[in-house]
Amino acid sequence: MIPESHPRYRSLITRERMASGARAGVVALEGLTAHGRGEAFDYLLGEETSTSAARAERVAAALLKTARHPVISVNGNTAMLCAGAIASLQKVSGAIVEVNLFHRTDDRITAITRILEDAGCKVLAGPVARHIPLDHDRGICHADGMAAADVILVPLEDGDRAEALVIMGKIVIAIDLNPLSRTARTATLPIIDEVTRAVPGITAAYESLDKGEADRLVQEIDAAQYLREAIQTIRRRLDDVLD
Ligand code: ATP
Repeated sequence: MIPESHPRYRSLITRERMASGARAGVVALEGLTAHGRGEAFDYLLGEETSTSAARAERVAAALLKTARHPVISVNGNTAMLCAGAIASLQKVSGAIVEVNLFHRTDDRITAITRILEDAGCKVLAGPVARHIPLDHDRGICHADGMAAADVILVPLEDGDRAEALVIMGKIVIAIDLNPLSRTARTATLPIIDEVTRAVPGITAAYESLDKGEADRLVQEIDAAQYLREAIQTIRRRLDDVLD
């Protein structure tokens, strides 16, 4: 039992949640190490949404609003951490929610789909095929989902697929706490923020955006600027400790 007074309460509760997700086969064991890397970067970033990330979340909302065929790609970690937030974003944006896994098994697809549906998501079903040119199972998706998408939100992505999607001409919005990752550096729009803060941030922005502002925001997206600002935040926090 973790006492609420513990200074790392939120982080410890989240770890417990991820561990139970792993025991239930929803989160891959490898997903736990990916979570740990995310935690480390969140620690360095101060565990809050920066002004820069909030701006990126508004641009993400604009991209979803102006998209022809928006898709949200969900893996085990994302489902375990924020299925309810994904459902809220789907409700306001009308985006398709599709499960896409690196460690893909029918059992995991079923378990993750159930978590998403229990939270209120409508999850894309039907036949899948390797529509994305990758040797691993992240390449498997639905013809009327990611394969047809113009804009794809990919929380907790791996760099290979982000790159493959960009090469296919898709607009890729990545949520990744690591500004050095291949994913963050490849995405059309990197959101350097924790997924449970970023997804509600995008939803809130979506609700307050009118079409005119959305059209303006998607005109010029300076991906490198968001990476620079995150690295500057980390550098400033390290300097504060050294001073
Ligand atoms: P890349 O190929 O992009 O360089 P990777 O494939 O090695 O990275 P993974 O091991 O798949 O990266 O880890 C996924 C990424 O997700 C990590 O960069 C990590 O920082 C990030 N991440 C993990 N948990 C969260 C979270 N809760 N919110 C946002 N980002 C997270």
